[in-house]
Amino acid sequence: MFVSDCLGLNALGHLTIGGRDTVELAQTYGTPLYVMDEDEIRRACESYRESVNRYYGGRGLVTYASKAFCCKAVCRIVAEEGLGLDVVSGGELYTAKSVGFPPERIFFHGNNKTVQELIEALEYGVGTIVVDNFDELMLLDQLAVSRGKVAEILFRIKPGIDAHTHDFVRTGQIDSKFGLALETGEAMEAVRQAVGMKGVRLKGVHCHIGSQIFDIEPFEHAAEVMLGFMADVKAETGRELEILDLGGGFGIKYLPEHDPVQYDRYMQRVAGAVERTCKARGLRTPFIVIEPGRSIVGPAGLTLYTAGAVKEIPGVRTYLSVDGGMGDNPRYILYQAPYEAMVANRAAEPKTRTVTLAGRCCESGDLIGEHMQMQEARAGDIIAVLATGAYNYAMASNYNRIPRPPVVMLREGRARVVVRRESYEDLVRNDED
Ligand SMILES: *Cc1c(COP(=O)(O)O)cnc(C)c1O
Repeated sequence: MFVSDCLGLNALGHLTIGGRDTVELAQTYGTPLYVMDEDEIRRACESYRESVNRYYGGRGLVTYASKAFCCKAVCRIVAEEGLGLDVVSGGELYTAKSVGFPPERIFFHGNNKTVQELIEALEYGVGTIVVDNFDELMLLDQLAVSRGKVAEILFRIKPGIDAHTHDFVRTGQIDSKFGLALETGEAMEAVRQAVGMKGVRLKGVHCHIGSQIFDIEPFEHAAEVMLGFMADVKAETGRELEILDLGGGFGIKYLPEHDPVQYDRYMQRVAGAVERTCKARGLRTPFIVIEPGRSIVGPAGLTLYTAGAVKEIPGVRTYLSVDGGMGDNPRYILYQAPYEAMVANRAAEPKTRTVTLAGRCCESGDLIGEHMQMQEARAGDIIAVLATGAYNYAMASNYNRIPRPPVVMLREGRARVVVRRESYEDLVRNDED
C-alpha cells in the first residue's frame, strides 16, 4: 500500500515511519522535518551486500554514493555495514574522515576535482581515485610523485548508453561532461598514458549511466561495453585490468505505480552478462564495484510539513501551501521529480482531492508537486512527502534565508537528531559585521 516498507498506519489513522507516529514526531521536533528510518537504510545495505556476495562469489564491493545524503551519522552506518563510500568533493571526504571512515574503502569521483581535493585524498590515503580526464591524470601523477605516493585509479568511461531517463540525470552518453569517450579513442589514449606514469596505478574502469533507472538492459549493456573495452586494453597493452565499477542509478518507488527492479534480480542478470562477456572475450572476471546512492537512503526518508493556506482557484487548481518547499526539496523545480504526499494525521482516509503542493519561497516554480492526490487538508494538518531520503537534505539551500530542517533518525523505534535544525544565528555565521 505504501511506497516504502518502513511506512505504515497506526490505530489513530496516522502515518508511521519505522513504527513511529509521524504526527508525534512533528510535534516533538517541529516542521519542516526530515525523518529517516535507520533500520531501512541498514536493510538496503545488507541486501546489496548479500547480492554482490552471492553473484560475484565475494569478489565485489558495494559503495554508497554519499552525495545522495551525506552526514556523519550516515557515514557511520555505512562504515558499520561494511560498505565502501563514494565521495565527490572535499566536503564529503571531510565528513567521511570526521567519523574515521576507512580510507581504503573510499572512492573519490568528480569531473573537476580541485588540486586541494586531490591533495586531501592522497593525504588521507583514499583507496581509489576515479580519474575523469587527461588534465586530472597529469595533475594527480605529479601530486603523487612529489609526495612519494602512488594513487590507485580507475578511469571514468562514457559507455555511450542511453538509459531512458531524464536528460539532466543521464550521464553515459557521448555529450556529457563526465568521463572519457570510447568511440574517439580518448579512453584508450588515457590508458596508454597512465601505464607509463609513476604516480598512478591503473586498476580498472568505471561507468555510471544515469539515475532512477527502472530497466536492467542498460546496465547489462554497459557491463558488456565496459568489458569489451577491458578486452581491448588487454590486446593493446597486455594488461588485464582488475576492477570494473558499474556505478549506481537503480530506481526507487516514488509513486505507487512505480515498479523498480529488485536489487537481487538486477545483480543476478548483470552478473550473468559479466560472466558471459568475460568468457567470450577471454578475460578473468574482474572485481565488481556497484555504487547505489538513492536506493540506499531514498525509501528510508520522508519530509513532514505543516499545512498553511489553502487557495482554491475555481476551475484552475487548488494550492496547498506548506512551511517548506524548494529550500528543502528542490527536485520538483529542478526536474519535475514526482512525489507522493498525504495528510499524515488523516492517512487512513481516502484521497479525494487533487492539489498543487506549494512551498513558501518567492518563486512561482517553488512546488513540491502538481496534480497530487491527497486527503482533504486544512491549515495546521501535518503533510508528509514520501521517499525524500535521497537528494533532498543533500540539495537543500537557504534560499530566502530559510533555515534548513533537522534530520531525525529512527533506530528500532527510538528517535535521535542526527543533523540539528539551523538557527537564524547559523544563517548569519559567515556574514562580516
Ligand atoms: C550519483 C552517482 C551514483 C549514485 O547514483 P544513484 O542514482 O543515487 O544510485 C553513483 N556513482 C556515481 C559516479 C554517481 O555520480
